[in-house]
Amino acid sequence: MKAVRYLGDHKVAVQELPDPVAGPGEVLLKPLAVGVCGTDLHILEGAYASNPPVTLGHEVCAEVVGLGEGVTTLEVGDLITMEPHYYCGVCVYCQTGKPHMCPNRKAPGVHLDGGMAEFLVLPETIAYKLPAGTSPEIGSMAEPLACAVHGMDRLQATSGRPIAIFGAGPAGSILIALARKAGLTPIVAVEMREQRRDLALRMGADAALDPTASDFTERMMELSGGVGFPYLIDAVGSSRVLDQAIPLASRGANILIFGVARPDDRLTVSPNEIYAKELTILGTALNPFTHRRAANIVNHLGLDNFEFGYFSMDQIEDALQAQRDGTFDKVFITPNGAVS
Ligand SMILES: [Zn+2]
Ligand SMILES: [Zn+2]
Repeated sequence: MKAVRYLGDHKVAVQELPDPVAGPGEVLLKPLAVGVCGTDLHILEGAYASNPPVTLGHEVCAEVVGLGEGVTTLEVGDLITMEPHYYCGVCVYCQTGKPHMCPNRKAPGVHLDGGMAEFLVLPETIAYKLPAGTSPEIGSMAEPLACAVHGMDRLQATSGRPIAIFGAGPAGSILIALARKAGLTPIVAVEMREQRRDLALRMGADAALDPTASDFTERMMELSGGVGFPYLIDAVGSSRVLDQAIPLASRGANILIFGVARPDDRLTVSPNEIYAKELTILGTALNPFTHRRAANIVNHLGLDNFEFGYFSMDQIEDALQAQRDGTFDKVFITPNGAVS
């Protein structure tokens, strides 16, 4: 079979590999749509530890084409979304209900072979059946959505209150859709790129502001009812964004760091402000126990409002460039031919 391989040293290539075989408890899959995301670029840049040579692709929607012995929850023809983690089960985190903190975690598409291939074998336990009629590209987005669901759980936002979401790329836009479902209002997106402000509005934001506009702070205060926001999300991953967000927090606000900042990035905070305003700054990582919930809700968030870009495995370089340039709202590799 053909597969998109990261070879190390910033190099990616399409290579021939033996077809995988499903063992007991495993399913043989044909990946249909595999999302390209910032993590793939970080892997290629060497900024995200991987295990080359390895097949890329961790945002996978695939069709079940074969069943290993003892598989009971899936049938040939089902569409699945992959939860891209193997946890060790024996560390203190795995054994105390926080498997996503597992230091021995291995991720398909990062440390193990992922979905940018004609075939993929997974244990039944991380292949989640999608609702009938799910389109492959929407199904693939269950993976980033599962991370957003966990983020919203961490934020503990209650309905009928305002939220500010900084960054309206794919992650920010999924968070906007979840905030809309959760009854937050108004939902204010903060985004420099006009194309992404448009996406934010299509996904349910009540307002989308350019943070470089001269009246930005004034508008933000107005939209929050004059007191700042009780919920704020950094969906960019940058101290620059948090510098802007924290002063816009109301008393008692929860601030969620969702975006992946560079490891050497540093934030200067005022301990007095955190104390006096009783602020809570929260991290969020991966998708512990949220992948099933994401699969259940993925068709109900208007994700078809995204403008999708499709690329074959041979076009991987073009796909990565489109991801870098933000040419599309979401970029997909279609390892088994066109899906739409
Ligand atoms: Zn991703
Ligand atoms: Zn573990």
